[in-house]
Amino acid sequence: GPISVQDLSEKIAVKSQKVVQLLESLGKSVTAYSILDVETSELIITEMGHKSQRVGLEDLEARWWGVKSKTYEDRPPVVTIMGHVDHGKTSLLDALRETSVASGEKGGITQHIGAYQTRLKSGKQVTFIDTPGHEAFIRMRERGSAVTDIIVLVVAADDGVKAQTIEAIRHAKTSNVPIIVAINKIDKTTAKPDVVRSELLNHGVVVEKMGGEVLDVEVSALTKKNLDALIETILLQAEMMELTCSPDTKARGTIIESHMRKGHGHVATVLIQNGTLRKGDIFVAGLLSGKVRMMFDAEGHVVQKATPGQPVEVLGFSRSPLSGDRFMSLDQESQAREFVEWKKSQALSDDSSEVTSNLPENSSDLAQYFKSQNVKTLFLVINADVQGSLEGLAYELEKIHHGEVALQVISSEVGPVSESDVMLAKTSNAIILMFNTYVLPDARKLIDQEKVILLNHQIVYRAIEEVKTLLEKLLAPEI
Ligand code: GDP
Repeated sequence: GPISVQDLSEKIAVKSQKVVQLLESLGKSVTAYSILDVETSELIITEMGHKSQRVGLEDLEARWWGVKSKTYEDRPPVVTIMGHVDHGKTSLLDALRETSVASGEKGGITQHIGAYQTRLKSGKQVTFIDTPGHEAFIRMRERGSAVTDIIVLVVAADDGVKAQTIEAIRHAKTSNVPIIVAINKIDKTTAKPDVVRSELLNHGVVVEKMGGEVLDVEVSALTKKNLDALIETILLQAEMMELTCSPDTKARGTIIESHMRKGHGHVATVLIQNGTLRKGDIFVAGLLSGKVRMMFDAEGHVVQKATPGQPVEVLGFSRSPLSGDRFMSLDQESQAREFVEWKKSQALSDDSSEVTSNLPENSSDLAQYFKSQNVKTLFLVINADVQGSLEGLAYELEKIHHGEVALQVISSEVGPVSESDVMLAKTSNAIILMFNTYVLPDARKLIDQEKVILLNHQIVYRAIEEVKTLLEKLLAPEI
């Protein structure tokens, strides 16, 4: 609909002055506050190098998962292992992986690519997300991707239901993902599986033995007891869920993780959820587009195609995508580029990345702040969710050159903002840039106490925009 010059400029990331100039050159006299009609704003978008799209791309995204197809096949379930610390999540993931490698054909060297598949004698497969714990799950869900079909809740038979067990139950419930309980460490003499069952009952997880429907298996990651039974149970649950896919369509999936690798550049693990991905396919992921140059499976073998349920390492990214980003293969490069442009404009108008905490409300306060700190360099302490995000931010920050004001990253780490990050920011007059992660409670107190500025972002593009704005403010304090 109609939009002000200012709002439009913001959306397409150009100075409103530029838009005013453009309109003046076209013989229209306007100010930043003038309201433009749809035709005029489309003209501006086109002139400014953006393709105007009122329809088309939205449809494409809406059809992301709802692909029409004639063929439906069963697809492997995707499983995430959750549970309290030390209850055996990592051990179980490793044990399940070993079992599958041993029974499979000649395996290559096991690579940790963020997910793996176990292949059973029956030919059936189960995909495991290879990051134990809750963070990956939450991060994915926050980014709108639902990759997990089933949660395996690990509860140590000698320890029972604990804080993170309860947390996992809550995640499962809020995201509507069924639970299978793995009562682990059953080899221990102190194991009390029935105590675990009744404790679970108190938290609304009613296993079969207690008259409910939740499936449970007593296992030992250590002695590998009942691992086959666990896999069978997962398959049984999957069967009840009737998980299907259409392998004959274009690939859709989710980025599980990404990193830089010497000689390969940016590498991302994509979990294929529908369709088939082939070498040479054009794709988009988050705000990136590219072409599949090469693919590797979890054993490091080169593969030519990847089907639903399969995690593959994909080469061909110009930068690191973020875990949780949706991945989609498209017909043409031009279409992919258009889609990314559209996503960028969406990201710009998206309010999800708000400035939190102590950033002074208006720019004169901010200028005041800088003045009081006597800064000529904008120092940043960066905390991000994954290495890939840090790389993405670093890459974009490098591109910013700002005459008199320098930009310097003094710390760049994966993980939540901790007290030491806040202290570092305080002592070095830095601003904390938090990306897709969170603030630890003690650090939160310190931030308030020490009045440290914290920027909170989920989109690289937005984070960079804000840093640029800050630099501009440093350069020209509006007091
Ligand atoms: P996580 O924190 O949930 O990933 O737990 P880990 O897999 O790191 O396991 C925590 C500890 O429990 C380690 O010392 C494991 O060796 C041990 N452990 C894991 N599974 C078993 C099991 O089935 N039996 C016994 N006896 N110990 C186990």
